[in-house]
Amino acid sequence: MPYSTVQAIKWQKFTSIHVKATGCSGNFPPIHFVTKGTDWFRGHPAALFFGLLVPDFWLHSPRRFNVQDLNRIDSVGARSAQGPAVQMINAMISEAVRVGASDIHIEPRKTVVEIRFRVDGVMHVWKNLPKDMQDICTARVKVMSDLDINEKRLPQDGRVTINVPGRTIDLRISILPVLYGEKIVMRLLDRELSVRGLEQLDFSPYNKSAFDDLIHRPLGLILVTGPTGSGKTTTLYAALNTLKSKTVNIVTCEDPIEYDMDGINQSQVFDKVGLTFARQLRSILRQDPDIILVGEIRDAETAEIAFRAAMTGHLVLSTLHSNDAATSVTRLVDMGVPPFLISSGLIGMVAQRLVRRLCTSCRRQAPPTPRQAELLNIAPTDLIWHPVGCQRCEGTGYKGRLAVHEVVRADEKFERLIMHGATASQLRQAAESIGMIPIREDALNKIRAGLTSVDDVMRQVYVRLDDIDADAELPPLPALEAPTAPALTS
Ligand SMILES: [Zn+2]
Repeated sequence: MPYSTVQAIKWQKFTSIHVKATGCSGNFPPIHFVTKGTDWFRGHPAALFFGLLVPDFWLHSPRRFNVQDLNRIDSVGARSAQGPAVQMINAMISEAVRVGASDIHIEPRKTVVEIRFRVDGVMHVWKNLPKDMQDICTARVKVMSDLDINEKRLPQDGRVTINVPGRTIDLRISILPVLYGEKIVMRLLDRELSVRGLEQLDFSPYNKSAFDDLIHRPLGLILVTGPTGSGKTTTLYAALNTLKSKTVNIVTCEDPIEYDMDGINQSQVFDKVGLTFARQLRSILRQDPDIILVGEIRDAETAEIAFRAAMTGHLVLSTLHSNDAATSVTRLVDMGVPPFLISSGLIGMVAQRLVRRLCTSCRRQAPPTPRQAELLNIAPTDLIWHPVGCQRCEGTGYKGRLAVHEVVRADEKFERLIMHGATASQLRQAAESIGMIPIREDALNKIRAGLTSVDDVMRQVYVRLDDIDADAELPPLPALEAPTAPALTS
């Protein structure tokens, strides 16, 4: 009997819920929920409530489990007999996976519950639910992610691993009480997405050779910076993909592990049980590593260990939240990292953003507006590419995303400037003098090449500049077309 089935039957014993092994059929693809087991569910009123809400569990062996979390299995085939909330949440997740959403937002409004997806960095309304669906949908999400369904006043965080056909998706769930109920955000992480190669990272030829040079150095720290969701981890994994071999020991510490890569050692940080980046990193240093990936530098302690590792013969790759390459240095200083450590450990930085890629089926050439012409430094009669919208791109005019970068290779002068507490603008000047192409230039080149639009670049790259009112020029974003939805009123 598969391990999953044994566990499911065990679980059945301490709840009132009937677990049944079966194949799946029905209109919706099967979704399996695998969450951490808890004792609170035993004899809890929630068990009774949930038992009423979901009369049956249909077990269909999931393709893969997170074994340490495998105590409770909720495997739902979305059969018509099941509650509307279950159907709704399953349809929502299936649709989000289908359109390639990175996040699902369930937002209680005064009279409706709005569900929006973030696709290619932009929010789109998927559908509005009647207000009376709010509580049961919230309860459903809480149960599947092992959260307290009675707690409605405090924020909660949870996670769940789900299998949709052919894919395993990690969901990170965050619940925040707001004025009209609890807002839920679910981040979707598809760990089985294939890791890219360096040539698939949209680097310009200069940036690619600079990055390639940095990652082949024997020691030092390389930082990839940018806001959340700017593809930093994708870039670092592409580097690991290039570097991995039988002759080096690569160890990562991440929160969460975003890609599944064979041939390296990936470890996960668990803040809740005190396994922080700093503690994990100390253990990794005793594991005889050659190359270390630190998912993110969030505090001075982690930063110091990472820099000391970089100075003692390791190549360390990490990410940092900052606006551009130069401000990442000042950010580290503000965090409390001594400048001498930064100047001796840091060998290079990459700043990046993701912009939306113009849909090649419908993009059209037209003259720029006066402001666009000025920005691109082209004549008002020259043609540039604009988004239109067709069936292939769900009417948005964009399909997929593309990264824009700036890459700095620190030289002696740059290191001296760091040591002497130079400002971000002094560092930026120094970086440009040693060949850095500012991210703005890289983005403009990609607009000229017809890969992305002025509007999208302004939204992602220039949004902080006071002299450009980016929002004023953004076209209204059409909503995604709703898929066939289950009856919501039953
Ligand atoms: Zn299109």
